[in-house]
Amino acid sequence: MKTLDQLIRPNIQKLKPYSSARDEYKGTDGVFLDANENPFGELNRYPDPYQKKLKSKLAELKSVSTDSIFVGNGSDEVIDLAFRIFCEPGKDKALTFSPTYGMYEVSAAINDVELIKVPFNSEFQIDFDLTKPFLSDPSIKLIFVCSPNNPTGNSISGIEEILKSFGGIVIIDEAYIDFSEKESWLKRLNEFPNLIISQTFSKAWGLAAARVGLAFASAEIINWFNKVKPPYNVSELNQQAALKALEKKGETFKKINLIKSEKIELERNLDSLEIVKKVYPSDGNFLLVEVSDADKIYAHLTEQKIVVRNRNSVVRNCLRITVGSAEENKKMLNALQNYKS
Ligand code: PMP
Repeated sequence: MKTLDQLIRPNIQKLKPYSSARDEYKGTDGVFLDANENPFGELNRYPDPYQKKLKSKLAELKSVSTDSIFVGNGSDEVIDLAFRIFCEPGKDKALTFSPTYGMYEVSAAINDVELIKVPFNSEFQIDFDLTKPFLSDPSIKLIFVCSPNNPTGNSISGIEEILKSFGGIVIIDEAYIDFSEKESWLKRLNEFPNLIISQTFSKAWGLAAARVGLAFASAEIINWFNKVKPPYNVSELNQQAALKALEKKGETFKKINLIKSEKIELERNLDSLEIVKKVYPSDGNFLLVEVSDADKIYAHLTEQKIVVRNRNSVVRNCLRITVGSAEENKKMLNALQNYKS
């Protein structure tokens, strides 16, 4: 791996970060007349810019130290910040595999960074013959690996080879890891100084509306995220929502198990339909389903107000179907049964 000095954008290395009122006085007691806040109201004070309470609960849950955690306004913020920290616009490049989560491409474009998309092989796994030449390209600063991958659902093998042979930063997007039987990379975070793992409260924790995303990395990398992020990037309401969910984590784990068993049932029911050609195995809370005619079936479902994701333009004739409640899944299956080609 290159040193962080070689990887951080030169203007970011020179950046004098914003120093907020809460950076300059860290106590919690006192008469606070330093941040031009309103003395009246319930949400009148700025939130903790470093989300210390939330991080200490997360550190316990995830068995990592608090200085290895970054909390973002959704994990989409983690993706955007990574481009801003590591990639010089118009010069540096990033790489991912396709098909995958669409925001890597959008974030790359916003930051004027070329994103190389290496196609997965027919099993939606990394094609190392195609990938290897890129691993030694010094203009590539970031590699995004989504595992379990959206929209294909499978976990990605061979990431260790990339971590060991690529000189830049590897971001493993584990948005769906809590639905998977596979181990998170978190346990091995300390082995790889170039590793960033992103996770989110939007999926298994059921807090998509709250916008709380996470990055785990070395304290040094997390420090750069803290310098570049907007000072109060996670609102008090969002922090409270995440803390509340962590207090009731038993409920979350129960719901994860429910979603997992619904997924097995859904898979079985989909498999029995004639219009379904293939249900891809999934470690996430969704299924990629090949059907006889994705565009027509998508239109048929939409007419009945059953909304799935048409991925025909990404994987031919495929729909991505989220695992809903038993009742929602039943409605969707009924609508599929009513389809006449
Ligand atoms: N990564 C993946 C793979 C996703 O599918 C999504 C959301 N669909 C995100 C990240 C973004 O999640 P968040 O709500 O945390 O921004």
